Amino acid sequence: MRVLLAEDDEVLSDGISKALRQCGYAVDHVESGLDADHALTAAPFDLLILDLGLPRLDGLQVLQRLRSRGDRLPVLILTARDGLQDRVAGLDHGADDYITKPFDLPELEARVRALLRRSQLGNNLEIVYGPLKFDTTGKYVTINDQPLDLSAKELAVLEMLLQRAGRVVSKEQLIEHLYAWDEEVSHNAIEVNVHRLRKKLDPEGVSIRAIRGLGYLLETTA
Ligand code: CA
Repeated sequence: MRVLLAEDDEVLSDGISKALRQCGYAVDHVESGLDADHALTAAPFDLLILDLGLPRLDGLQVLQRLRSRGDRLPVLILTARDGLQDRVAGLDHGADDYITKPFDLPELEARVRALLRRSQLGNNLEIVYGPLKFDTTGKYVTINDQPLDLSAKELAVLEMLLQRAGRVVSKEQLIEHLYAWDEEVSHNAIEVNVHRLRKKLDPEGVSIRAIRGLGYLLETTA
């Protein structure tokens, strides 16, 4: 899951980024509304955490532009304690939820989880592929009814392959989905995760076929 955080307060944004990374999210951070707007058109995100008081385009303008592009990305706005009008305006402009500063990080994490869960309710809750079952809400995978123990990145790779089962997924798509811009993506990071996944899936009758020059394809072999 990839999160864009638009917040110009350095201390606050550091705290939020750190907390969300520890939860396994890839977090990109921008400090202005204009940068947020650019980022949103440049990369696929799963959630936007948006401060309303931002320099160079305020949060409401960012939100307006996002929705006017028809983008339904879940948006959590951060507002000041006395900002009742801001909250109302934010929700009116298409924000999904808000949280009032100051807040505790566990509460923010819970709101983020709830929003991501809600945004996935429109999608299948459970993806079944051969012997594989992926619970997209609980992030829980079983194969032949046995729980599969996966790292956060392995899980993300598998989720992407499952969502596009039957189609080839390129390495670039996986990288965009899995990593924030400032994260070190070693050249073979994707290969390593695919390799680990293969070792766990192959004996159970699911394989990840590499299509030279194109990417990966999920297949059942049983
Ligand atoms: Ca601010």
